[in-house]
Amino acid sequence: MAANLPNIIIAIDGHSSCGKSTVAREIARRLNYIFIDSGAMYRAVTLYCLRNAIIFNGIVDKQKLLTHLDAIKVYFQLNPQNQHNDIWLNGENVEDEIRLLEVSQHVSPVAAVAEVRHLLVSLQHEMGLAKGIVMDGRDIGTVVFPNAELKIFMTARADIRAQRRYDELTAKGEKVSYEEIMANVIERDRYDETREQSPLRKAPDAVVLDTSFMNREEQLEWVLNLVSKI
Ligand code: C5P
Repeated sequence: MAANLPNIIIAIDGHSSCGKSTVAREIARRLNYIFIDSGAMYRAVTLYCLRNAIIFNGIVDKQKLLTHLDAIKVYFQLNPQNQHNDIWLNGENVEDEIRLLEVSQHVSPVAAVAEVRHLLVSLQHEMGLAKGIVMDGRDIGTVVFPNAELKIFMTARADIRAQRRYDELTAKGEKVSYEEIMANVIERDRYDETREQSPLRKAPDAVVLDTSFMNREEQLEWVLNLVSKI
């Protein structure tokens, strides 16, 4: 199947913490495609804002952010140790730091700023020029690549997503509670779905994948089955 597959764009959108990036990365690996985690780009901009006092008491200082926008360089570089495309911010690999709960708790208001979206979407367009790409996020099938050949909308029950994220962060040694993760999952979905700029929506032609009761292998098989029909 993969051998005959033409270079296409696979767009995977959906709710927070439902395993989009994990599936997208593995699909890309199997198809020998590029994987782009667009959420990592919004997280890197958020990390910059946190470090530069652009977010204060949870509020984004939009005017200050706009004056800094030219100084924020976000890009991916291959990590030779694990072959992952790590996210870099102004010369520093921030792949681990952007996953901290503090970043998750501030990313949605940053991602709602139109100018931030314009900047990152134009970078995403460049990455998709040659196709052969799997990109996951919130607006990939609706705004970034509305003509993507395959669109998937992933979701899962909120309590199950929160439990998975809790297990993931505590396994890395982060001191977090299940309750704060659950609150973050719900709040991020609400913010992402109700914002004015590119709100999280299922594209009309996207296929829904509910991962509540599926393990990673089953999710992968489900997506590969769709790919094989292209
Ligand atoms: O995918 P991830 O959970 O890492 O994304 C973090 C946040 O970045 C999302 O909650 C959303 O606010 C924002 N995001 C977005 N558009 C994308 C990808 C992520 O607004 N394409």
